[in-house]
Amino acid sequence: MNNFIAIVGMCGSGKSVVADELVKRGYHFFRFGQITLDIIKQQNLEPNEENQKKIREAIRQQHGMGGFATLNLPKIEELLQMGNVVGDGLYSWDEYKILKQKFPDMNVIAVYSPPKVRYERLSKRQPDKNDQNLRNHHFSIEEAKSRDLSEIENSDKGGPIAMADYLLNNTSSIEEIKKETNQVIDNIEGTEKEFKRPTWDEYFLNIMKQVAKRGTCDRGRTGCVIVKDKRILATGYVGSPKGLPHCDEVGHQIKKTVHENGEVSQHCVRTAHSEMNAICNAARHGIAVEDATMYTKFEPCSVCAKSIINSGIKRVVCDKMYHAAKDTREMFMQAGVELVVLNKELEKYENQ
Ligand SMILES: [Zn+2]
Ligand SMILES: [Zn+2]
Repeated sequence: MNNFIAIVGMCGSGKSVVADELVKRGYHFFRFGQITLDIIKQQNLEPNEENQKKIREAIRQQHGMGGFATLNLPKIEELLQMGNVVGDGLYSWDEYKILKQKFPDMNVIAVYSPPKVRYERLSKRQPDKNDQNLRNHHFSIEEAKSRDLSEIENSDKGGPIAMADYLLNNTSSIEEIKKETNQVIDNIEGTEKEFKRPTWDEYFLNIMKQVAKRGTCDRGRTGCVIVKDKRILATGYVGSPKGLPHCDEVGHQIKKTVHENGEVSQHCVRTAHSEMNAICNAARHGIAVEDATMYTKFEPCSVCAKSIINSGIKRVVCDKMYHAAKDTREMFMQAGVELVVLNKELEKYENQ
């Protein structure tokens, strides 16, 4: 059974954006109001709001307040034979009732934006000459207000909005409404993204991120997990030596380093790095880390790198790059330590 989704919302609420996402997902598209525009074209009338209103009223006089649903039924049935269908611009409560009776599984998506935002959007719309179907034509604020009143008072558009199965609040960005639309489609189709099991590297990096939260210096709360044969041997986080005050309590202990090229960098030296602390934790409990893998937040500094090499660790997996890891990369290469960075993103601190 194919899906039928009807979109309802006041003029300028963002229905087209939602409909376009459905079309991208393979839905067959039709507009409830296309009938009006077809008649306008047939009769060679100006597609302004006044003429549209006249035609809409004429249709309703002839076919009742549910006219647009009744007239669109054959089209909906035809499209549903071919696949999923989205109807843009459900207008009235009577239309809703007719459609719901005919298609009990119909899903209604309401798109909401506050009037102020909608009037702004509508008045900024530029008439597009290529827009044969007049999907996005310009409205003055007065035209938009008059249309709002008519839709609420004459068509009872509030009804289908109140009875909608899903509500999309279109007040932030276009990306956000697109994302939310796709979540709704996933939900309707029952195809919520399948659970993705983390790889072993992702698994230990995720654990490392939890370990890092115990860090005592906010210039980089890093963490480290040492693993062998898929078992955790030791963990460590950035922190002062046992029994000494923490940066979070007494402030950092900043030292400046002057580099060969004259550049000066600042480092907090109150703490031992997470890699060092993990190696020390292993040593304290007599655990050999030879041939193990180390998981860290970012590429180790050159001091830690030397200890990593000498402890016999053979593989280092980092979440991110580190701005001053040139020496580390070179040493690891020479010593045969495999270095893997999962996200090629640079870790940065303030005032580094
Ligand atoms: Zn510090
Ligand atoms: Zn370090």
